Amino acid sequence: MNRKARARAVLEALRRVIPRPETELRHENPYQLLVAVILSAQCTDERVNRVTPAFFEAFPTLEALAAAEPEDVYPLIRSISYPNNKAKHLVGMARMVRDAFGGEIPRTIPALQRLPGVGRKTAQVVASVAFDSEEALPVDTHVFRVAHRIGLVTDEADTPLKVERQLKRILPRKDWGEAHHLLILHGRYTCTARRPKCEACPVPPHCRYYERLQKLPPPLDGLDPGRGAFFCKTCARYFDAPVRHEDRYGVEQIACPACGSMNVFDTKTGRTTKRIKDYRV
Ligand code: SF4
Repeated sequence: MNRKARARAVLEALRRVIPRPETELRHENPYQLLVAVILSAQCTDERVNRVTPAFFEAFPTLEALAAAEPEDVYPLIRSISYPNNKAKHLVGMARMVRDAFGGEIPRTIPALQRLPGVGRKTAQVVASVAFDSEEALPVDTHVFRVAHRIGLVTDEADTPLKVERQLKRILPRKDWGEAHHLLILHGRYTCTARRPKCEACPVPPHCRYYERLQKLPPPLDGLDPGRGAFFCKTCARYFDAPVRHEDRYGVEQIACPACGSMNVFDTKTGRTTKRIKDYRV
């Protein structure tokens, strides 16, 4: 299956289980969305949603925020990551919108990126969600991880920008905004960083990671841990001190010190020691 066909199948599968693919950051207008997205950098949406009601009560408009000082903002966002920087960015952003953009939140990605605290991802989220921009396909940690695991992008896509470019090449432009939300929500609740819930996922038939999981050898019964911590199935030898080899995906694997095979099992659990390339971001 090529990446385009895979992407189409994955989006179809995700649409069936995520009927409302939209941001979980609570907001009522572009100003509130921009503030929430700035706050959400390196922080969960849930935590941001806990602080924004009081924040918008104190600073109901962009003008009110522009007239404040970072010290006024800090106490309201102290439970968020990097509160000092974010307080400065929020006030700086509001002042720049007031002074350089006539008080209107800019609508384009390049203009949004001129604002303090607004990087490529934040600008794209605001442009897409608040202004229906068809240029945006923001890549956060969830989109990055899920796109790699499923195999929507190649191993060369080792930065968010490269992932964004590859996804844009295989997805129709009209689907970019929706794909962003589908992949985020899928990554947040199902294809989680530490332990993806493959058994509850609608994507397995199209997922490269899942396919590789299925190819792992089944556990071996009857191994004797008293004879060594590891067992090499290729040369039927027990050993304690393994060597390390890199496999063809660049993953370091435990290997047999005698024959170099990576067909090695943990004698306590009987499970293979093989690891699959993953992106646990
Ligand atoms: S099958 Fe597993 S790894 Fe693949 S997308 Fe679903 S949860 Fe993620």
